[in-house]
Amino acid sequence: MTDIRTPPEAHAAVAGVDAPPAAAADRTAAIVPVPQRRPHVVIVGGGFGGLRAARLLKDADVDVTLVDRTNHHLFQPLLYQVATAVLAPSDITIPIRYVLRRQRNATVLMGDVRRIDPDARTITVDDAGWTLSYDYLILAAGARHSYFGKDQWEEVAPGLKSIADAYELRRRFLTAFEEAEKAATQEEKQAWLTFVIVGGGPTGVELAGIIPDTAEAFRKDFRRIDTCKVRVVLLEGGPKVLAAFPEKLQQEALRDLEELRVQVRLDSIVTRVERDAVYVGEERIPTRTIFWAAGNAASRLGAQLGAPVDRAGRVLVEPDLSVPGRPEVFVVGDMAAVTSEGKPVPGVAPAANQMGERAARNLLATLRGQPRQPFTYRNKGDLATIGRHRAIASFGKLQLEGYLAWFLWLFVHILYLVGFRNRVSVLVQWTYAYFTYQRGVRLISGAMTTVGSTATPSEPPSTRPPVPGWK
Ligand SMILES: Cc1cc2nc3c(=O)[nH]c(=O)nc-3n(C[C@H](O)[C@H](O)[C@H](O)COP(=O)(O)OP(=O)(O)OC[C@H]3O[C@@H](n4cnc5c(N)ncnc54)[C@H](O)[C@@H]3O)c2cc1C
Repeated sequence: MTDIRTPPEAHAAVAGVDAPPAAAADRTAAIVPVPQRRPHVVIVGGGFGGLRAARLLKDADVDVTLVDRTNHHLFQPLLYQVATAVLAPSDITIPIRYVLRRQRNATVLMGDVRRIDPDARTITVDDAGWTLSYDYLILAAGARHSYFGKDQWEEVAPGLKSIADAYELRRRFLTAFEEAEKAATQEEKQAWLTFVIVGGGPTGVELAGIIPDTAEAFRKDFRRIDTCKVRVVLLEGGPKVLAAFPEKLQQEALRDLEELRVQVRLDSIVTRVERDAVYVGEERIPTRTIFWAAGNAASRLGAQLGAPVDRAGRVLVEPDLSVPGRPEVFVVGDMAAVTSEGKPVPGVAPAANQMGERAARNLLATLRGQPRQPFTYRNKGDLATIGRHRAIASFGKLQLEGYLAWFLWLFVHILYLVGFRNRVSVLVQWTYAYFTYQRGVRLISGAMTTVGSTATPSEPPSTRPPVPGWK
């Protein structure tokens, strides 16, 4: 390792970190212990794919640098429970640095990768522009939500991909009840108690299903509203919810949602989103809380490789997961468009894990002078939960629903959570919530604006209508 106090210009000659622009020089010199001589593998993203690849390279004769814009690995499948105050953010995250603490060949850097130069084999991190050179690159930067060209909707209808998103959804979710309690008119109250979720995939269904139960848990805490009367509307543009599941389970999910009083609207394409309403065609649904779970767009980093991408921005990779014409670059997880046994591989956590593993194994095979293997996806089954104790599960011919599927869902999610502390904590929170109906994380934090409200913070209080019965 190069001494971290080596002047920046000394780094330029070695693989690892190149000389940064003068403005960033001091910062770079202070941060980076530079790997030398051995092949340098840079991994972008510490999610499912990136972390799996890094761990597989543990005993390899390479230096690994993993760069992520956050300091944590995130278990996205339980994000909706953070957004609805069931779990705390720390229950489903773990510092990437901690996960790799015993891996001597791995260095973790927190930074936002802005540019990739595949010809120079470098990536540029953060605005300050320090540069890492690589011998091999594994891109695993995941996806964001897509608004199908209506990016301006994001402010009113946020999506759920990161812990920051979950904080924002939780703030809006909990604020809606507070605002309803203060509302001056019945219409305003009803609008605050109406939650619209756009998108009938697993995230939309799970969000929609958990809201009625969570609202019921609040019922004794409010005086002016009946929280059991929340209206939850799930808008799906296509003819089905949970399209990846077999027809029978889709019907079961629809029945479960109906029992939870979720209004499912199929073939309902959102045409307009406003602060106090969402439109399906000309129909106006008054609401102050809209959550977006309708589309995915791969990280824009993929487009910088000069390789073909699909409509969702995913890189069309070779069967070995490398980029066409660039065998030293692999793309995995939600960023990669790949088929296995003739079928497109879905954007799910097990697929990202398996791709991270295959990319690392192929990289090692190349170092050993062995041939690479094509990626094959092993589908271990699909699971989705609906509300407090219902779920559906599909394992090929075996299809389950109800309690059994729900227990399976609990078991699988606990099993795949990274970190013993997180597993114990989530189990305790779930048990507590199940038996007491209470939600442990009802914290409204962040900007205290009344999101979606017609009243802005700058509005003088006197212009708001008085709340009936309040002096
Ligand atoms: C709400 C939600 C629920 C889901 N539920 C399920 C489920 O129940 N079952 C299931 O199997 N799958 C589920 N998924 C999908 C699953 O989480 C993804 O398929 C999986 O996380 C993809 O892994 P990945 O490694 O490609 O990306 P991610 O896990 O998203 O990781 C990407 C990483 O890259 C980092 N990053 C991004 N851009 C940059 C940059 N420019 N510079 C540096 N770092 C960057 C991010 O911070 C992140 O850590 C869900 C996803 C969401 C959003």
